[in-house]
Amino acid sequence: MDEPTLPASIEELISQLTTLQLDRNQRHSNERISRRSLSKSDRARVLEKTTKRCHICGGPIDLRWQADHVLAHSNGGQHSVENFLPAHNLCNNYRWDYSQEEFQWILKLGVWVRTQIVKRTLLGRQLAEHFFAYEVRRQARRRKA
Ligand SMILES: [Zn+2]
Repeated sequence: MDEPTLPASIEELISQLTTLQLDRNQRHSNERISRRSLSKSDRARVLEKTTKRCHICGGPIDLRWQADHVLAHSNGGQHSVENFLPAHNLCNNYRWDYSQEEFQWILKLGVWVRTQIVKRTLLGRQLAEHFFAYEVRRQARRRKA
């Protein structure tokens, strides 16, 4: 699959995104496999695969990072060094275990929203305002916790 197929209507797009989210939640609830942690030498092998760079954003990895499943555990990915790549905690937490199609939609939506903001369209301004308020609330919640 090169690119997700654009549904015929907005309602179908919303329905498809909702279905992808529900499918992911179902995979999660089906998953009850314990996750053993990687040994120190396994983690070193994972980190060297990308010469100490995050496989998601490409940025250098300093201290804190996560071993990210390339094929998500909930999609049948193995818990072995071969199926891991290093990722920043932030990148990995946002990447989560979306299916390929859902992640591609998120990237497309995110890039489109970013473009609206940079082009300073009315919609872009509204999206930026809502996103900013959301982030302020989210970060305040995190500080309390
Ligand atoms: Zn990253």
